[in-house]
Amino acid sequence: MSPLIDRYNRVIRYLRISITDRCNLRCIYCMPQEGVPLLKHEDILSFEEIGRIARAFVHLGVSSIRITGGEPLLRRDIIHLINKLSSIKGISDLSITTNATLLSEYAEPLKMAGLNRVNTSLDSLYPERFFEITRGGNLKDVLDGIDSALKADLKPVKINMVVMRGINDNEVIEMVRYFRGRPINLRFIECMPTNRKSFLPARHFIPMEAVEKKIRREFPLEQTLVKGVGPAHYYRIKGDLLRLGFISPISQHFCGNCNKVRLTADGRLRLCLLQEDKEFYLGEALQKGVSDRILTRMIKKVIMAKPSRHKLVAGNMESCKYEFKGSMSSIGG
Ligand code: SAM
Ligand code: SF4
Repeated sequence: MSPLIDRYNRVIRYLRISITDRCNLRCIYCMPQEGVPLLKHEDILSFEEIGRIARAFVHLGVSSIRITGGEPLLRRDIIHLINKLSSIKGISDLSITTNATLLSEYAEPLKMAGLNRVNTSLDSLYPERFFEITRGGNLKDVLDGIDSALKADLKPVKINMVVMRGINDNEVIEMVRYFRGRPINLRFIECMPTNRKSFLPARHFIPMEAVEKKIRREFPLEQTLVKGVGPAHYYRIKGDLLRLGFISPISQHFCGNCNKVRLTADGRLRLCLLQEDKEFYLGEALQKGVSDRILTRMIKKVIMAKPSRHKLVAGNMESCKYEFKGSMSSIGG
């Protein structure tokens, strides 16, 4: 089967699958205090349906699959799903994005089930601030989770820090110091304006260039050849195992090289994170009993609608109000 190529000649190799929209945290940049409306249980894809869609994508050349949510470790029998996915021939990179609150319990079983690596979120090293940003999270659980992932050899462990001006931007140097010497990719990410009720006022936005400058003033960085499937460019401090990545979806968007699509927990194929009109309901097609051959054909056709770029404009954080009603937890960040 020929690879999955959109009309801008981008080859799609990366599928991100959300397996739940539920979460045990309420991060201030992701959702409002009261949470977001949740899917009905019966609308959430079964493991069998997820497996079918994953196989169709692998058949079309996708080799990287990342499981996300909501909080994916809340989904019952996640280990069973990872077992199932890791047995699909053609997936060379199977990973998970987790808030790591439950990771110390799951790291080893995930590894045994065939998971290759994990991404975790961590926005502060101060327990009270961490509690405030996540509205209830316990920092120690997350740090223990990261240690367990390293012990289980789920490497490289990637840590995502959403940098927010006036909230945690004064911690970026400390983060680097804290994780030095470990086989970790520490990635700094621009805060994207998402849910109407929860997105942070524009004054908290800080462009990645400013973060990078701050870090370069403290540490001499050299570019590495490491290039993952995602948008980060990696640097290292000479001789150190720690890698640093800077991700700037808003100030310097990387849509021209986007090789990714997302599947929501209820089976909507989302072609662009930041455009909700670009969704196709594969879950419904499965319910109607389409064959694997038709499913693959549908995906090939639908991919042609992947937009050239998102519509958010740096410096105009309000632009999202009119187009992004969901939250990252319901799409699968
Ligand atoms: N619950 C898991 C977690 O937090 O890692 C997985 C889902 S979460 C939606 C995936 C990633 O999206 C996290 O790393 C989180 O920091 C990021 N994220 C959520 N809202 C964001 C925003 N407004 N801007 C930038 N990143 C965001
Ligand atoms: Fe939950 Fe992840 Fe969103 Fe935080 S970023 S509220 S952990 S889904």
